[in-house]
Parts: sequence; structure tokens; C-alpha cells
Amino acid sequence: MSSGVDELSPSERREALKEELAKARACVRCSELASTRKTVVFGAGNADSDLMFIGEAPGASEDKQGLPFVGRAGQLLNTLLGEIGLSRDDVFIANTLMCRPPGNRDPLPVELSNCHEYLLRKVELIQPTVICTLGNFSTKLLRGDPTGITRLHGQPEVLTLGRRAVRLYPIYHPAAALYTPRMLATLREDFARLPELLALGAPEQPIDVPEPKEPLDAAPQATPTQSEHERAEVDQLGLF
Ligand code: URA
Repeated sequence: MSSGVDELSPSERREALKEELAKARACVRCSELASTRKTVVFGAGNADSDLMFIGEAPGASEDKQGLPFVGRAGQLLNTLLGEIGLSRDDVFIANTLMCRPPGNRDPLPVELSNCHEYLLRKVELIQPTVICTLGNFSTKLLRGDPTGITRLHGQPEVLTLGRRAVRLYPIYHPAAALYTPRMLATLREDFARLPELLALGAPEQPIDVPEPKEPLDAAPQATPTQSEHERAEVDQLGLF
């Protein structure tokens, strides 16, 4: 069965991603997060990138600016990208949750579950060949397994997410490496292997994957009107 997405051009996939952004901004699936967030941090970067990073959840700076990884961990991520000849404009960066958990508490299982379809849709529309999970939350979520990042970091594996097969590459979260020099050295080594992983290209894609049970359209939504301000923000995401 074809997902339909494979037949879309890059610009059509980008348009579909903009529609997801509008839906996400109106999402009230997690009532606590919807009432405490300043912005929905959808993700940012190159909407047609081969490389996608998935972190945990927005912090205070991300919530304020509406962009992922703009604080200290983000600065380290930028540095590590630069060391392999890439910049943020070359990759797409997202999180397991699009809204900041109050007080930076851990994401709740129900919140991860509520946000998961958005994440899968991003993967489906961006079509990365490599997904780099940053730290424990995104690694465990995407693998559906409690094995931790200490055991898994630096070991690529082929994984089917939604309807797409990708090369999953778990690495340490940059925030964890900020204060631990040994972890930073390991993160750097793992990062250095990204170019060779990207050079492998996409893994073989599954032929017949069933439709997801509940389409995103069924998510409870606030009135999906988009203000002039929000439309302007879409252009600032660097996505489009
Ligand atoms: N940590 C994350 O996991 N995501 C962000 O966007 C920022 C910090």
C-alpha cells in the first residue's frame, strides 16, 4: 500500500508540514501543557533534510522563542554540527514533546503518546534517512524499549517509524554532555560518524504498512484560526 506521501514533491511535503504546524499550534490534547506553554515548539530546519535530530522537550528559552535547542544545549549542538561541516539549516530539529513541561519536569507517558502522531507525521513528510535521537527520552520512545542511551549510543540500527524505515542513531543529549567532559568526548566521537551513516542513504522501505488507527485530524483542537502574527512566525521557523 502506498502512503501517498512518496508521490508528493518536496514543495508539496513542505506545504503539508505547514498544515501540521497549524494543527499543532491549536492542539490542546495535553490540557496542562496547552494552558502553561507560551509557544508550540514544532521543530525547525530544513524540511527536506536527510538528517533529523529528536530531543526531549522545549525548555524555557525554547518555549519563549518557539524554536528547538536555542539554549546552551543548542549552542553545543550547533558547535558539533559545525565540526562535521553542517549547520542547523542543513538538518531538521524536533523534540518528543512540542510543549514545555512546567518547571522542566519529565514528559509524562500520556504527553509523549499525545505528541507521537505529530512526530511520526514529521518523519513521514521530511523523509530523513538518519534520525539521531538525543538522550534517553527520544531513544526509548522511538525504539519502544526501555534500554538506555548509555548502552545504545553510537550504534545505528534500521527502524520503521510509522510508514518509513530510517537509520536510527542514538547519541547522548547535548545538555548531559555540557558538564561532563567524558560524555562530551563520546558525543563528539559519535557525531563524527554521522557523515558515513548519511552516505549509506535510505534503508530499504517497507512495502505494506497499515494506516495509523487514529488520524491526527481526530485530535481535540482549539479553533484553528491563524493570526497574522502566527503566519509571520511560520516564515521565521527557517523551515519554509
Ligand atoms: N533540550 C531538548 O531536549 N530540547 C530542546 O529543544 C532544548 C533542550
